[in-house]
This record gives sequence, structure tokens and C-alpha cells, in this order.
Amino acid sequence: MAAVLQHVIGGQLRPHQASRLDPVFNPALGDVIGEVPIDDVQAVDAAVQAAEAAFREWSATPILERARVMFRYRELLEAHRRELAESVTREHGKILSDAYNEVGRGIEVVELAAGAPSLLKGEVLPEVAHGVDVTMLRVPLGVVAGITPFNFPAMIPLWMIPPAIVSGNTFVLKPSERTPLTSMRLLELLKEAGLPDGVVNLVHGGAPVVDALLTHPRIRAISFVGSQPVADYVYRTASQHHKRVQALGGAKNFHIVMPDANLDLAVDALMGSAYGSAGERCLAGSVVVAVGDVADALVQRLQDKASRLKVGNGLEAGIEMGPLIRAQHRERVQGYIERGVAEGATLALDGRQHDMPSEGFFLGPTLFDRVEAHMTIAQEEIFGPVLSVIRRPSLEEAVTTANGSRFGNTATIYTTSGKAARYFRDHVQAGMLGVNIGVPAPVAWFPFAGWKDSFYGDLHATGMDAFWFYTERRVITARW
Ligand code: NAD
Repeated sequence: MAAVLQHVIGGQLRPHQASRLDPVFNPALGDVIGEVPIDDVQAVDAAVQAAEAAFREWSATPILERARVMFRYRELLEAHRRELAESVTREHGKILSDAYNEVGRGIEVVELAAGAPSLLKGEVLPEVAHGVDVTMLRVPLGVVAGITPFNFPAMIPLWMIPPAIVSGNTFVLKPSERTPLTSMRLLELLKEAGLPDGVVNLVHGGAPVVDALLTHPRIRAISFVGSQPVADYVYRTASQHHKRVQALGGAKNFHIVMPDANLDLAVDALMGSAYGSAGERCLAGSVVVAVGDVADALVQRLQDKASRLKVGNGLEAGIEMGPLIRAQHRERVQGYIERGVAEGATLALDGRQHDMPSEGFFLGPTLFDRVEAHMTIAQEEIFGPVLSVIRRPSLEEAVTTANGSRFGNTATIYTTSGKAARYFRDHVQAGMLGVNIGVPAPVAWFPFAGWKDSFYGDLHATGMDAFWFYTERRVITARW
């Protein structure tokens, strides 16, 4: 029998009172590795109470001491990096090297947070009138909550928790019910780093628990990462309940390949972007816009490489692509492949026919050519290993095609022309741009800056935005 996961409240494991449990799978084997409570809404109030109780002391803890917890945490994460990566691969399916990099990107945010004593300094303007000084301080909000998706079980909780708590807030995390295990280990290591009990709490669950968080009167801010429809719902609901919200949603990322591009570089980058993590990334390259006469050679090379991709259990050496998260999600992605064929795109490589294990939730890489911008596969987020090629005669038309998307997370151009790169930079409507980079994920010192329907809110995750999101300003005008 797989273990039933417990909440972490006030530093203690707390058994659930849920009426529904969902299985947690190892998607490479299809076996159940845990059971997760879905609707234990009472646990939310208990977690908020624990976070409130911890807030007074934690927010009064000198910032240098809060930052030192981050330094110790960084060392512990680094020491346990391989173990955490294995945990990510086991519950998510991505290959081990990818999971290892994911943990590294999470560690970066802890490094950012360790700089809080520099970053959270206030401002003073002396003598605004005779004998009058104005001081602005950044103060924590109180109890804040994070709701995370399945696809980065380590990195996305780490986007939120370190900047939130180093700023003096206390936290309630609701991890994805499909990948909840790694986050529990992240909390154990925080405790080992010296974080007082109750500063970070974890409540498992699905939509009912999310609703309890969005409407809880004592939660001041909500950080959400997940699909666009849920991001929309979270943004509206939490705002209605007077909370500060950052809601990062889905994506459809366009990659423009110019005729002057270094094709070896472009093809390698596209392979990693489209098929890395089985396409289950919000930065996954999903549509290639091939400009001018580059299309035939590009499709040929992509088809050749993708057809030889080694698909299997990401914990095994030599494997290049793992499974999808669930059988149901695989059916959904297969549905998009059927739709692409029905709408008239050319199926250049069919992932359903790929050589892959029979157990687990595998689907091989798929490549569509001669896709049109109005087709479903060019418009909707597929979140699987499906790459679509659209052919366009010019850069201007390629950029117009990319801008037709409702999403605006990232876009990339492959070119050796500075002029083309500058045109792309100034005209494409997306917040994170790559020039000859397949996955242009900003380092933690910059905001994760999605636009359009990829983001609802104004302050993004990571970078200075994170500190502004998790703090309130207090302005004092004083006469002496
Ligand atoms: P999801 O929207 O299904 O789930 C995200 C979270 O919302 C989970 O914690 C889940 O429990 C909760 N949830 C799900 N349905 C809900 C509902 N009806 N009401 C309330 N809460 C609900 O997303 P996912 O499948 O776990 O993650 C993949 C999605 O996340 C993709 O769309 C991907 O693009 C997006 N994503 C975006 C970014 C970004 O930075 N923009 C990063 C990673 C993932």
C-alpha cells in the first residue's frame, strides 16, 4: 500500500481529514507511489493559524538572521541536489539531468533571497520641510500562500518561498496534487536549515483546498502558477477577496528560424525546447516559424533527430525524453495529434509510432509541417512533445504570426543578423525573449516576465518583483 501523504502544519506532520484521496504515480512505470488528500479544507485554516502564530516572532527576527537561514538552506539544497532531482524524476518523469538543472534553478532563487539585506533597504528623504524627514520602509504582508503546478515540483515552490519568508512573511504552500512529494522534502530541509516551525506550512489538496486559500480572510497574497483557465479563476477570485495576486498561466511559444540562422545550433536548441521534459514546460517551443527557404532543411533535420530520440525512464542512463504526467494527459495530447491531421497539417513524424516502453505514460515526439496559424495545434497549449512548423516568407510576417497568439510567455529568434534580432526584440509581443536560445528562462535576478494570457497581475515571480510583491511600503513623515 502506498503511503498517504500528510500535511505539514506548525512544523509537525498532520494526518488528513479528507473524503477523497488521489493516487500519485511514477509516470515512467505507471505505479502508485503515494496517495494525496484532495479536499481537506479544514487543514487550510489550521495552516493559516500556524502561520499567523509564527508571524510575530519571524517578522521581528533580524533580517541578517533570516538571510542566514537562506545561506544554510542553499548549502543543504546543494548537498541534497541529486536526491531532490531523483525525487523530481520519480514523480514527474523528466530525465535526471533535466531534474538536476531544475533544482539548480530553484537554488538560484535562494541565492537571490540571501541578498535580502541589500535588496530590502528603505528610502529616506531628509528635510522635505524644515525639520521634517520622510522615510519609506518595506514591511512584510503577513501570511501569504503559494499554489504550484505539477511540472516543476522543486523549482516553482522555490520561486515563491525564499523571497516571501526572507522578507518576513509566513507561508502556506499547496503543491500540485500530481507531484506533491518533492515539496515535502524541501520543507524538511528548511527545518534543518533552522527555520522556525510554522513559518512555512504545507497543505495538500486540489481545487477545494485552492478555493479555501483564495477566500481565506487572513491570507494577504496569493502566488499561483498553472494553466491559463485556472490562473484566470485564481486571479479573479483572490482579487475579489482583496488579496494581492500574481497568477502565471499557460503558454504557446513561437520560435522564428531565419534563413541566415546557424542551423545546427537552431535544431539542437529546438530539440531541447520542444521535446525536453516531454514538452511539459511553460517555456517549451511549440511552434516554429520557418522564414523563407529554410523550411525544407529545417524540417528534414528535426524529423531526423526527433525520430532517433531515446524515450524511456528518465532515471536510466542515455534516455533523452521521459513520459507524460498521466495516461489521461497522454490521451489529450494524442487528441491534438488527431486534430492536427484532421485540420490538414502534414504529419512529418508521428509520436504514437515511436519506439518506447509499453508501461508508463509515454508518447514519442511528433512533428507537424505546413501548419496554418488558425489550426488548433498552432493556437492551444498542448503541453506535450508536439512541434508545429509554420512557413512564412518574411520576418515581418513571422512576427505577425507569433503575435496572433493570445499567450505571450516567450519567443525566440534564430539568426546571425543583428538587424533581424533587433526587429524581433522590438516587435514581438512576449515578455521573455531568446536570441539563439531555446529556453530563455531568466536567471533568478530577473522577473519571470510572461505577458498577455500567460500572466495576470503586475508583479512577477523572482527578481526585484518578488520582493515588491511580498512587501508593503510604510511611509513615515516625521518632525523633530
Ligand atoms: P493546473 O492549472 O492544472 O494546476 C495548477 C494548480 O492549480 C494545482 O495546484 C492544482 O491543484 C490547482 N487547480 C487545478 N484545477 C483547479 C481548479 N479548477 N480550481 C482551483 N485550483 C485548481 O496546471 P498543471 O497542469 O499542474 O501545470 C501545467 C500548466 O502550468 C501549464 O499550462 C503550464 O504552461 C503552466 N505553467 C506556467 C508557468 C509560467 O511561468 N507561466 C510555469 C509552469 C507551468
